[in-house]
Amino acid sequence: MSAFNVAKFGGTSVANFEAMSRCATIIENNPATKLVVSSACSGVTNLLVELSLGVTDAEHRQQLLTKISAIHDDIIAQLSQSKATNDAVNKVLVRLASMAEAASFQTSDKLTDHIVACGELMSTHILTQLMVERGIDAVRFDIREILRTNSEHGKAEPIISEISQLAEQHLVPLCQKQLVITQGFIGSDSEGNTTTLGRGGSDYSAALIAEAVKAEGLEIWTDVPGIYTTDPRIAPKAAPIAEISFSEASEMANFGAKILHPSTLLPALRHQIPVFVGSSRQPENGGTWIRQKVESAPLFRALTLRGNQTMVTLRCPEMYQAYGFLAQVFAILAKYQISVDLITTSEVSVSLTLDQTNTSGGAPQLPIEARAELEQLCTVEVEHNLSLVALIGNKMSGKKGYAKQVFSALEEFNIRMICYGASPHNLCFLVSEDESKQAIQVLHHALFE
Ligand code: ADP
Ligand code: ASP
Ligand code: MG
Repeated sequence: MSAFNVAKFGGTSVANFEAMSRCATIIENNPATKLVVSSACSGVTNLLVELSLGVTDAEHRQQLLTKISAIHDDIIAQLSQSKATNDAVNKVLVRLASMAEAASFQTSDKLTDHIVACGELMSTHILTQLMVERGIDAVRFDIREILRTNSEHGKAEPIISEISQLAEQHLVPLCQKQLVITQGFIGSDSEGNTTTLGRGGSDYSAALIAEAVKAEGLEIWTDVPGIYTTDPRIAPKAAPIAEISFSEASEMANFGAKILHPSTLLPALRHQIPVFVGSSRQPENGGTWIRQKVESAPLFRALTLRGNQTMVTLRCPEMYQAYGFLAQVFAILAKYQISVDLITTSEVSVSLTLDQTNTSGGAPQLPIEARAELEQLCTVEVEHNLSLVALIGNKMSGKKGYAKQVFSALEEFNIRMICYGASPHNLCFLVSEDESKQAIQVLHHALFE
């Protein structure tokens, strides 16, 4: 097939009729774009998550359903031929109402995934019709036909070989004939149950799909003109980055830069697919290219912030000069499938943070049973309301004196759990949630402005 580009549009990019029309122009302006991956309309997934948590008050449940319906109705009302789209969206809404009622009696991860998937299922009906009305031969494709995952609801793992095979069979032939519009975020397991890739997962979907169809380019269209030195909503003087390497951008995504889902760059890296990040509101302003090889590798590249951290501190005087303690701790964590993110140790204690949770969000919790088992070994302290700040850069561990620069800028802050030196690409630490934005602002000022 000739040049093949995949374009992904995030929630704000498909928030309303005008926003969707801007996406349409972007799609039309690049004839290589043969596949479009869309998120749910802005705000819809949050409302769906609320419903999935079980809203017992029927009136409140109806209010949420009405809000979701209104967001879509507003856009549909501006289509010229709205009947079929309206019917299709209503069908999803009727199913959603009964699932939301079921969740009010009993919630489950499986039901949550079926509920939260509704946003992408509806937005893609509308975006497809909008494209058709602009004279484009577009077709909606249900990505659950090919995006095979395991059954870990809320944070499903894609099964790459099956996705490639299914895409080759069902998706690629379609892309050769028509513009295909499909859903981000959602997939299905081998039994046909709907799964999701975790909040913000549409970026990851787009990269997985780009890999599966052997695309030569992936565009992530969002509400900011590219990747900045930090979240421009936190530090207004953040500067756009024209070009960044896969490894730097992966570090940023992993350490919480919301602009990309943490796993997005894995498929792109495997297949060396250059990724462009830009604003669908101002496509003319350019954006960021993420590539394997880039011209510059600055010592400091960016700052990221990840909220909702849970820190667990285990203290055990017997650990001093003993062996096997950490092995016992990790055996317990493994038994309860608890994924550890960062870790620091001293002679008699170890602090670790728990990995981020799934679609329903919130701070990760240490299960009661795991805590009880750990308490047989040591004292256990769990702290919430912490945020992780990460400084991303290049060859940092080989550079003298930069830690002084970082920590003297932060002398007014109470810094916890510093991870420094293990990776040449980052230095990270915890601060209290209340002070986290200020810490980013101060550090950005000291290192980047
Ligand atoms: P979408 O709905 O398009 O996926 P997201 O809200 O998930 O958009 O991601 C875009 C947001 O990411 C921006 O509005 C910005 O606030 C945030 N963000 C965090 N870190 C960065 C960064 N380093 N550069 C740019 N944006 C960032
Ligand atoms: N709609 C999903 C979310 O809000 C996925 C995404 O937008 O990437 O998390
Ligand atoms: Mg996103």
